Amino acid sequence: MTVGGTGAITAITTVLGGAPGASILLPRPGFAPYEAACKLVGAEPRFYDLLPRQGWEADLAGVRAMADGATAAIVVINPNNPCGAVYSTQHLLQIAETAKELGIPVIADEVYAHMVFGASKFVPMASYAHIAPVITIGAISKRFMLPGWRLGWLAFCDPNGTIKHVRTATEMLLNVTSGPASIIQVRILLRNNV
Ligand SMILES: *Cc1c(COP(=O)(O)O)cnc(C)c1O
Repeated sequence: MTVGGTGAITAITTVLGGAPGASILLPRPGFAPYEAACKLVGAEPRFYDLLPRQGWEADLAGVRAMADGATAAIVVINPNNPCGAVYSTQHLLQIAETAKELGIPVIADEVYAHMVFGASKFVPMASYAHIAPVITIGAISKRFMLPGWRLGWLAFCDPNGTIKHVRTATEMLLNVTSGPASIIQVRILLRNNV
């Protein structure tokens, strides 16, 4: 658990972005704190496009073209801020297959998971974690409109154990940085369907 979803962003970029030459793939348009969090740890933010004529899906050809051996992860924001897109299972599968091809985990920012309107259906990226490992970012600020209750989290879904060491490093980092107040953690843990 982290101090807001923003704390989850800074923790995971700190763990993944520290290697020399590391880059992290970010959506454009996107959520500005990712860029700052990358720069803070010396990781290069590389921006892939969201395609307006394809319902703001990720330009996966562009993703493949910009990744290299030091690319550490791809960030996928679904449901999307700022575009409002909710990705289909087919597109999520394509993202997972692209991540697998590149040998990188998906950082799935799902802080809007419970804010889907109309006929759209939200499907968690972790449904495809058997293809590529998924690190999900969640938070209560948007769903419950409680931005002052700084509580977010990172959930590792890594059935093949591909990024075990990333999880260990994240736990170590969170052990030496201050976390959210325990009273808020308990409140959320008691509610089992966030
Ligand atoms: C608001 C937001 C966050 C951060 O959540 P907080 O809990 O408010 O820090 C993370 N990602 C996206 C896409 C957001 O819109």
